[in-house]
Amino acid sequence: PAYVGIGSNLEEPRRQVASAIEALSKLPDTRLIRASRLYRSPPMDGTEQPDYINAVAALLTQLDARTFLHALQAIEKQHGREPGACRWAARTLDLDLLVFGGQEICNDELTVPHPGIAKRCFVLLPLCEIAPQLRIPGLSSATELLRDLPAGAALETVLDQ
Ligand code: ADP
Ligand code: MG
Repeated sequence: PAYVGIGSNLEEPRRQVASAIEALSKLPDTRLIRASRLYRSPPMDGTEQPDYINAVAALLTQLDARTFLHALQAIEKQHGREPGACRWAARTLDLDLLVFGGQEICNDELTVPHPGIAKRCFVLLPLCEIAPQLRIPGLSSATELLRDLPAGAALETVLDQ
């Protein structure tokens, strides 16, 4: 399966994330298998911007990784993501390709597994909810990575969806 990290902190983030999951379920030659609950997390760099809502989705796809990434970017665009905004800036929708089967990819456009996975609680928590046993190529399992995170990365589960 492919795993996609979803994040939003602008313009009704919960609605953006729910709508992104809906859009993922409609991708060609692709089937949505599972989506995590929604999680709330503070911005990574501690700057003044709203909290994020995060989730992770698991999909089966016949698309190749590059085509799949372009499909994710098209969904970001449909959700009003401003191109060219600086990294980690507030955004209506961010879709990151976390894992793509057993593949390890590193080129100008795409690094898979996503280099942030091992450090980010807001990725590992929802990932462990839907795929605790998942082995991240080149790393360990999702559960082990979550356990090895430094304490203090506070996350609050969004309960009522
Ligand atoms: P971030 O998600 O780290 O805040 P952006 O979403 O702005 O940063 O970064 C998008 C860029 O990252 C794109 O140009 C894309 O080609 C590149 N990229 C590299 N690897 C990945 C990946 N695994 N998933 C999504 N985008 C990736
Ligand atoms: Mg991104």
